[in-house]
Amino acid sequence: MSDSFRGAVDASDSQLSAESAAFRRALDVVRAVEPRVADAIGAELADQRESLKLIASENYASPAVLLAMGNWFSDKYAEGTVGRRFYAGCRNVDTVESVAAEHARELFGAAHAYVQPHSGIDANLVAFWAVLADRVEGPTLRRLSARHVNDLTEADWAVLRRELGDQRMLGMSLDAGGHLTHGFRPNISGKMFDQRSYGTDPATGLLDYAAVREAAREFRPLILVAGYSAYPRLVNFRIMREIADEVGATFLVDMAHFAGLVAGKVLTGDFDPVPHAHIVTTTTHKSLRGPRGGMVLCQPELAEQVDRGCPMVLGGPLPHVMAAKAVALAEARRPEFGDYARRVVDNAVALADGLLRRGATLVTGGTDNHLVLLDVAGYGLTGRQAESALLDAGIVTNRNAVPRDPNGAWYTSGIRVGTPALTTRGLGVAEMDEVAELMHTVLSQTTAGVGPDGSASKARYVLEEKVADEVSRRASELLSGHPLYPSVDLG
Ligand SMILES: *Cc1c(COP(=O)(O)O)cnc(C)c1O
Repeated sequence: MSDSFRGAVDASDSQLSAESAAFRRALDVVRAVEPRVADAIGAELADQRESLKLIASENYASPAVLLAMGNWFSDKYAEGTVGRRFYAGCRNVDTVESVAAEHARELFGAAHAYVQPHSGIDANLVAFWAVLADRVEGPTLRRLSARHVNDLTEADWAVLRRELGDQRMLGMSLDAGGHLTHGFRPNISGKMFDQRSYGTDPATGLLDYAAVREAAREFRPLILVAGYSAYPRLVNFRIMREIADEVGATFLVDMAHFAGLVAGKVLTGDFDPVPHAHIVTTTTHKSLRGPRGGMVLCQPELAEQVDRGCPMVLGGPLPHVMAAKAVALAEARRPEFGDYARRVVDNAVALADGLLRRGATLVTGGTDNHLVLLDVAGYGLTGRQAESALLDAGIVTNRNAVPRDPNGAWYTSGIRVGTPALTTRGLGVAEMDEVAELMHTVLSQTTAGVGPDGSASKARYVLEEKVADEVSRRASELLSGHPLYPSVDLG
């Protein structure tokens, strides 16, 4: 790898695409300090080019987005908000933060956008504290939310814990496709809130609005959360807002997974969260195809509290990532992004159809969005076995619980697949049938293995090497017609 990179140093930039020249030169600079890192960066591109990536939460950001992140904006501290910083010399950070927020507001039709969160989890924490500060009458909380967390004394915390004590959150259950940050134990949200979940109808697998309404009436949450990581259908946010209003809850939508479908105007009307929710959180790196990061959109009443995200919850903003968010959001405002978002859904529907035709079982029987959840019990496998066997054949997916999963959250009975990444590479509906064929071939030819003591194993599996190699070869062939980062040639 390093030899071929060295060859690149000699190539004349004028013969290269702008992207090739930029990345080659950048890697040369890195290589001069730590060659192993430059080589790993090059190897990562090669790995990504070769793998059939069906991870529903991943995508490929454009060269412009990637390049906007790799610079001296990373050197700048800019705690505070645009025009009100705790540090001097922030005028250029102000520019990129304002541009990113402007694009976000225009793109999503939101009254306010806060583009500082470093990730989706951070965006949710910012939103939760904003709602608490807005809604909880505790005078201490109000006073403290304007201060830095590090400045709180033990006595402050004791009062705060009493005031927060019984605040409630109602969100989608984990096994129905909800997210850890929606009040579940392994996440701080599960400690901040008294949580209850709503699930899906056991017969159809669809979100049961009557059950959500009943749970909300009984539980009377401060925050009603909608949004998911593994639910393959649409959510009617108008109905969810009506439920929130009926019980006086703040309605929060976490659109981390499907923000790209909202941006691309595939999800509109009742299915667009922005006009219905009081507050919307998202990641920027999933279907939205931006840099790794988060964002909060909200109604004007919550804007002031949301802007306190730093320093209440977040450290200094990442100006280089905000610059990349601005570039990605500008890209998402182009008409081509709408085409992309539509193709993501068309591809997911085609993939689901291809799997169903070959006899696979899908949770809810199909998809309306960018993801498909297979129940692999019909193949006699756990999610863990299926995930490993697919990976052996060059197909990257992740295991995921299915509703009321008998194998729990670790082994699971499901495989979650999504189309945002392959759609970015240019694969279309015809190729999705071949992807379904490759997946089905692997799953139907894999058998569950036995443990060292001869008992059935939930992790071991048997897949003949020649089957894995053959599928792998066909996957590479499929991808070779759709090169990843075609403008980037590292030599
Ligand atoms: C991915 C995801 C998150 C977390 O995003 P990170 O950037 O990994 O912190 C939060 N909520 C939902 C619904 C997600 O799918």
